[in-house]
Amino acid sequence: MQDMALKFRPVARRVQGVPASDGAGVKLTRVLGTQALPGVDPFLLLDEIRSDQGQDYTAGFPDHPHRGFETVTYVLAGRMRHGDNRGNSGLLTPGSVQWMTAGRGIVHSEMPEQENGLMWGFQLWVNLPAKDKMIAPRYQDIAPERVPEVVLADGAKVRVLAGEFGGKTGPVEGIVTEPRLLDIAVPAGARVAVPLPTGHNVFLYVFEGEAEIGEPGMQVPRGSAAVLGAGDAALVRGGAQGGRVLLAAARPLGEPVARYGPFVMTTQQQIREAITDFQAGRF
Ligand code: MN
Repeated sequence: MQDMALKFRPVARRVQGVPASDGAGVKLTRVLGTQALPGVDPFLLLDEIRSDQGQDYTAGFPDHPHRGFETVTYVLAGRMRHGDNRGNSGLLTPGSVQWMTAGRGIVHSEMPEQENGLMWGFQLWVNLPAKDKMIAPRYQDIAPERVPEVVLADGAKVRVLAGEFGGKTGPVEGIVTEPRLLDIAVPAGARVAVPLPTGHNVFLYVFEGEAEIGEPGMQVPRGSAAVLGAGDAALVRGGAQGGRVLLAAARPLGEPVARYGPFVMTTQQQIREAITDFQAGRF
């Protein structure tokens, strides 16, 4: 096999997501950006929304600002309406991904466009390097059919949201941290090896079933994340009922992080400027 020469990364940490609430009272599971797991440079936050009870999510995320980083929304089920203070608007449907580079500042809303039924998806925050924090905002809205899928011989399926896998390249372009974002569905007994640059950080979040991750393998149940150590590749095996896993890898920035709610900058002075600029309507 082609991957026999790879050194698979071991699991350095396994961390269970915690119940949290954000926006106007949306119930979610916070995986990254918690006390237990503040971040995996350059990733700052991962939230999972999953509920079929409208009261858990209909309040949504009304107008709020961002500056200094990128927000990535990936929808599995349900419909989410996006709108901002520049007149942009769009509907995120199942299988779609939105990569929003907030840069110097955006004020936007993210509101479920349904009263009931399953709403399921993720939001991932990716830091920007200090030199790029004040770039112009940019959106990449990716329809489901633009996301390539790699089907492996043993039945595993990999949706390539960003970066490269199995000879296919995801539709998200021009992100400075060279992220790899994959949705990996792996049946029981099957395995997926993902070669990664040795300098990149990587974590995986199991959102269905169970997976055995890394080498030596560690069982990771639904609702938990695994942060991997050093090596050439990530390895995912399906658990007894199979598993589905979100893999996020990128080049770390290694820069100071000053964080205050929806603003992620390099210094406290820049945080104060962000608050002042937002309050003065300069976003
Ligand atoms: Mn937002």
